[in-house]
Amino acid sequence: MPEPIPPEMLADLKAELERQLSRLERSMAVTDEAVRPVELDQQSVGRLSRMDSLQNQHMSQNLQEREQVRYGAIKAALKRWEAGTYGRCTQCGEPLAPGRLMVMPEVEHCSRCGG
Ligand SMILES: [Zn+2]
Repeated sequence: MPEPIPPEMLADLKAELERQLSRLERSMAVTDEAVRPVELDQQSVGRLSRMDSLQNQHMSQNLQEREQVRYGAIKAALKRWEAGTYGRCTQCGEPLAPGRLMVMPEVEHCSRCGG
């Protein structure tokens, strides 16, 4: 069984979560602009053809979905941090491997429970 996470590492992980959250908020604002309905007005489409801009819009929608999922996961991780349950698998309650948290601080399941 992995050791519980030392307090100083917990503080680092929280700072990392907050950094990632604010970075994500900035990029979500950009994506939000990109998924706006394509204007028929050629002026606003600029040099892109309508096909290109529709394709870009579609890619941005995929990106937006991924960003929203990630945003929810980071928010949930911060909530667990406040509740004092951060660093444990939400399914089985076992401490998460520190290496795993350093790569993905928002992770909520241990390797056995999947994800
Ligand atoms: Zn688990």
